[in-house]
Amino acid sequence: MEEALIPSIQESLKPVVALCKRRGFIYPGSEIYGGFANTYSFGPYGVELKKNVKDLWWKTFVQKRKDMVGLDGPILLHPKAWAASGHVEGFNDALIDCKACKGRFRCDHLIEEALHKSADGMTLSEMTETVIKNKIKCPKCGATDFTEARVFNLMFHTHMSKTGSDGDLAYLRPETAQAIFLDFKNIIDTTRVRVPFGVAQIGKAFRNEITPGNFVFRVIEFEQMEIEYFIRENEWKSTFISWLKSMHDWCDLIGLKKTHVHEKEHPKEQLSHYSKRTVDLVYDFPFGRSELYGLAYRTDFDLKRHAEFSGTKIEYTDPETKEKFVPHVIEPTFGVERTLLALLCDAYEEEKLENGEMRTVLHFAPRIAPVKVAVFPLMKKDPLGSKALQIFEQLRSIWACEYDESGAIGKRYRRQDELGTPFCITIDFETMENDTVTLRDRDTMKQERIPVNQLVQILSEKLK
Ligand code: ATP
Repeated sequence: MEEALIPSIQESLKPVVALCKRRGFIYPGSEIYGGFANTYSFGPYGVELKKNVKDLWWKTFVQKRKDMVGLDGPILLHPKAWAASGHVEGFNDALIDCKACKGRFRCDHLIEEALHKSADGMTLSEMTETVIKNKIKCPKCGATDFTEARVFNLMFHTHMSKTGSDGDLAYLRPETAQAIFLDFKNIIDTTRVRVPFGVAQIGKAFRNEITPGNFVFRVIEFEQMEIEYFIRENEWKSTFISWLKSMHDWCDLIGLKKTHVHEKEHPKEQLSHYSKRTVDLVYDFPFGRSELYGLAYRTDFDLKRHAEFSGTKIEYTDPETKEKFVPHVIEPTFGVERTLLALLCDAYEEEKLENGEMRTVLHFAPRIAPVKVAVFPLMKKDPLGSKALQIFEQLRSIWACEYDESGAIGKRYRRQDELGTPFCITIDFETMENDTVTLRDRDTMKQERIPVNQLVQILSEKLK
């Protein structure tokens, strides 16, 4: 059963995956039907975490900057847009099947894992030859009998009409970026933006990945937070460097440990068809160092191609010099699911306590934690219960709060530790005497007594 639901979860990820299920962060998709591989639901705490990440991203890169605006484009674009962008022709992986067990693999990954050498730049026949010559074994069944490598387009298809004929073929977008290029003209015509400026978008993207897996690291439906930053050609190097820095700053802001985030420059022969330079921010996931985000210099490729394929003139006129030109583009792109996975892995700790017990804790930065404060009455009964509810009502109007009155207090703390809640407040008998509560810090587990009338101010400071 577990195999079918989550087919390729590596051992190193299992504690995080188990916690996500146990505590309502992430569930396997369509679980009551036996699962639907590589789809996931974000549960009550996962959706809060996701929302905090997306809101903070929007605030950081749109609201706080004078040079950025937002867009929410459609998932279904005119099919010609995907021909113009190069995705119909070039958004492919090399696919190879095991004849014995029918296992399906990305051929470059198969070669890289078996031979520890890159398959980048190899043609399909070179890949097939490498697999045969080196007698590479099927990772699933061990056989050495593969089909020839062949091209596989990663875009999901759908049909627009009731008849579902081929003429009405449409694609689910494999990246959010293209919608921004399609609306470039609308944006310069209807707003006051001036080059250099950027357009940001958060939305779903779909990729029919051959070998998805590693939990939400590689899924078929995911969200991207993308920026297309429009510049003059001669500005690209300095803009690239400054966005690289902004991306590192973002990683710091959400609380990823600096030592876990690195840069990986794409060698020239590995660049996508549209890119002149790409640097990935890679993260030390438990299963290995892998791409978290990407930064690409897309040149003027996309705007020019859309102008060509649509027959619409797309250019920018400098309001002062009246110079007309097609802007170049720097694209920082951030995957939401990979952000969440990195945050969960980074925050996860199984800690041995002084008394020998173990506790599992998520050390989320308060700004992204799904729950900021939990409120517990020591006992359900009044007067503690009603006093606790009163405090809870006051705090929940400001922060995401939880109220929990069931079970031993220690268990309630452990539950909040696993949710990554930075602070817990307990209302006890002393509260009824001197109007103070205990405030317990998730990371140090230390408790201090705080007057109720200073709670909001103290928590505001601590949650900053
Ligand atoms: P990879 O090399 O891992 O397939 P990519 O280079 O194709 O990724 P991009 O096209 O640069 O990825 O996509 C931008 C971002 O979207 C990535 O940096 C990643 O955060 C996210 N992303 C891409 N594909 C997936 C996926 N299948 N599942 C989850 N997130 C993804």
